[in-house]
Amino acid sequence: MQNNKSGFNTKLVHAGSFEDEFGSATVPIYQTSTFSFKSAQHGADCFSGKSDGYIYSRIGNPTIKALEQNIASLENGYDGIATSSGMGAISSVYMALLGAGSHIVSSDAVYGPARVILEQDFSRFNVKATFVNTSNVDNIISAIRPNTKVLYVETPANPTMELTNLKECSKIAKEYNLFLVVDNTFCSPYLQKPLDFGADVVLHSVTKFINGHADIVGGIIVTKDAEIYRKIRHSMVYMGSNMDPTQAYMVLRGVKTLAIRIDRAQETAMKVAKYLQSHPKVAWIKYPGLENHPQHELAKKQMNGFGSMMSFGLTGGFEAGKKLMDNVHLATLAVSLGGVETLIQHPASMTHAAVSSENKIAAGITDDLVRYSIGIEDPDDILSDLESALEMC
Ligand SMILES: *Cc1c(COP(=O)(O)O)cnc(C)c1O
Repeated sequence: MQNNKSGFNTKLVHAGSFEDEFGSATVPIYQTSTFSFKSAQHGADCFSGKSDGYIYSRIGNPTIKALEQNIASLENGYDGIATSSGMGAISSVYMALLGAGSHIVSSDAVYGPARVILEQDFSRFNVKATFVNTSNVDNIISAIRPNTKVLYVETPANPTMELTNLKECSKIAKEYNLFLVVDNTFCSPYLQKPLDFGADVVLHSVTKFINGHADIVGGIIVTKDAEIYRKIRHSMVYMGSNMDPTQAYMVLRGVKTLAIRIDRAQETAMKVAKYLQSHPKVAWIKYPGLENHPQHELAKKQMNGFGSMMSFGLTGGFEAGKKLMDNVHLATLAVSLGGVETLIQHPASMTHAAVSSENKIAAGITDDLVRYSIGIEDPDDILSDLESALEMC
């Protein structure tokens, strides 16, 4: 059906799928909590690892496995670990790779809750965290301590849209013996493959681009090798942040169109970005596809496209941004991103509300920042929606 040499779209449609006894064209939903053993000996063999039979759906399930192998193949990784949510993926990775007394260096503009659980929860177990602007790799080197175990980056970062150089990070991680973990949610494996640049672990909120239809919350982790895979799978299974079979089925359905959805959305995004850039009421805009983006050259090298996410601020500041959000009609005022529908939100009061104001300012999450996720609607409709809303600002 497909192999490692297959093209990306072929993998999207076929990777991980298997033939069942009825010749089902899609991967069936194995909606079961548990699996029967053929004999007492078979049960014992499944538990000891002599047999790779399924035991219990928190540990493994055929529908979930199909998704794990699909995404692992897209990311050129060893294998995947599907989770209940993106945060389930992030917390499983933290749990597996950090311990009392250890230290993590992370991008300062990461997904808000990925920072909050380090500062408010893992800190109670004496895990230390330093947040720096990883766009400048010198900041990473200065933050490394003897007990640093993990370098965690998100690129482009959420919601500042700044890029981090993955090749440089991988060099640093090797030199200082750190695990390099990359949150690849904003790009999806279609636009960026962090393991190819030397990352050890890549993770996603599949809620966003990978599923793409705003109807499921889920996460996935893909590792470079078997050793890290076993560590993280242990955390996921024992902490219980597993995905559900129906969730996996939905994501398998959504992922098939990942490339055509992104191609469409990023073509529109470029038009929208140029429109906003030349609009007199727009004070600034960050989109990796624009030449004035600080890491535009890096984006060309590291990403296979500029994506459909952007952030901008209006000359009228937060009040004008609020008016814009209240006056768009096609774009939905909602958090989340990467779906077929256009979404708009205000990170300072929404996704990043739990991050302290001084940390927000330090990370560049200003009060006027509006985040825009372009969908696959007709570009002219998206543009005229913006145009009429901007008239009200
Ligand atoms: C949404 C998001 C997450 C968290 O994922 P959930 O599925 O909501 O738990 C993590 N990282 C990034 C970049 C995200 O956008």
